Amino acid sequence: MIKYKSTRGSGNEISSAEAILKGIADDKGLFVPTSLPSLGVDLYDLKNMDYKAIAYEVLSKFMPDYSEEELKYCIDSAYNKKFEEEEIVPVKKAGDVYFAELYHGRTAAFKDMALSILPYLLTTAMEKLQEERRIVILTATSGDTGKAALAGFAGVPKTEIIVFYPNEGVSEVQRRQMVTQSEDNTHVYAIRGNFDDAQAGVKKLFNDAEFAKELEAKGCKLSSANSINIGRLIPQVAYYVWSYAQLLKQNVLKPGEPMNVVVPTGNFGNILAAYYAKQMGIPVHKFICASNENKVLTDFIHTGIYDAADREFHITNSPSMDILISSNIERLLYHLSGEDCEEVARMMDDLEHRKLYHTTPRIKGGLSDLFAGGFATEEETLSAIGDLYEGTGYLVDTHTAVAYKVYEDYRKETSDLTPAVIASTASAYKFADSALKALGLPACENGFKSIDALHEKTGVRVPSELRGLGEREVVHKAVVEKDALMLAVKEALKVK
Ligand SMILES: *Cc1c(COP(=O)(O)O)cnc(C)c1O
Repeated sequence: MIKYKSTRGSGNEISSAEAILKGIADDKGLFVPTSLPSLGVDLYDLKNMDYKAIAYEVLSKFMPDYSEEELKYCIDSAYNKKFEEEEIVPVKKAGDVYFAELYHGRTAAFKDMALSILPYLLTTAMEKLQEERRIVILTATSGDTGKAALAGFAGVPKTEIIVFYPNEGVSEVQRRQMVTQSEDNTHVYAIRGNFDDAQAGVKKLFNDAEFAKELEAKGCKLSSANSINIGRLIPQVAYYVWSYAQLLKQNVLKPGEPMNVVVPTGNFGNILAAYYAKQMGIPVHKFICASNENKVLTDFIHTGIYDAADREFHITNSPSMDILISSNIERLLYHLSGEDCEEVARMMDDLEHRKLYHTTPRIKGGLSDLFAGGFATEEETLSAIGDLYEGTGYLVDTHTAVAYKVYEDYRKETSDLTPAVIASTASAYKFADSALKALGLPACENGFKSIDALHEKTGVRVPSELRGLGEREVVHKAVVEKDALMLAVKEALKVK
């Protein structure tokens, strides 16, 4: 039976429910499955399964401690009318490539794929483990996770959700989505700093044993909704299995033939989920990792050296990928090293102290066999949106455009014609200012007017979450210093 253990080697093997509740391991490592399961269905049968059936297939393999009834309840509650497309994830062809539209959930970004189910997985875990305390979800966000986590946890009994976002690092629309979330168990703080500061601050709270004790005395237990939580990662595996099934269904591939996967990447959660899908038996030839100007991952894939030291942090038009310290790489290092926890701990220690680590030849070999990496500049991102729209009438957001540009480069360089699926991670309306600019239209006075103007130009449906956003009441106004997160948490929980 699959259990979970820390990438850094210490501690016991625990169940998936325990790993979801804990979020991060006591030795600061991330939970990984003790073995990677295979799909229980034949590739020939995949194309007849609907999204929920595929999700069940994936989740039941990774989470054998949940009963069939429990998992089906979680899946049904998550992937229902909250999604504006009946298929959940339409896979559409535009130009020479397929786009898996992962953004039809409640907050119009792919984070909904996991964050609409995580609250159900978590509250089910609480029941299974007879956890009586209030679960406090702490989340650092580069923009999209925050709102998806707020929407997922809003009003969920015995949970509190606290979100920290970089004051200067999110789009106007992203900010407004978060600060207008109204339920009592939702708390939102801007921090004076960038996303890495927010993530580092949250990690520090997780690793503060004193603080944990203090909260436990008040009946609270910390957990995480970031992609360091295995309960975020596993549901994401499902849509790669689903995407492959759609290529079978559309007669693009025959069972067993490989696809390429292209992912606009920040914290490496989404692309790691694709890697897990391959381990389950989905034929993937290459994982193409796309970055914006914060191209630490491109360089990592090319050199085997992760170097975030002395790198300037760029605020770009694809802000959800403005990340230099990419957390989920730790899991990939664990797998590619042959589960060498000591080696992983050494690299993560170097990362913490020097913002830099060298991998081993074995890891470097695995990286270059499986992964390709590239990046897009600000201008290239906008041109990609414009070219694709002009050529095909298909509209993508800035993050997806980064992936499209990197894929075009990859194809030119390698002549690899394996059919490719791009993870399309957000509605273009979330970053409407940039889309307008890309289409050569004049700027509007604010992000909300831009949504209207973009709709007028393209006729693409506006997600309901983004309609009337400019008029919604702002309920969260606090801005805190980047070293004052603990105080903010205590204030939110009223445990000062
Ligand atoms: C979060 C996000 C990404 C990056 O995903 P990771 O799992 O962090 O690699 C890309 N695009 C959008 C729109 C996002 O919200």
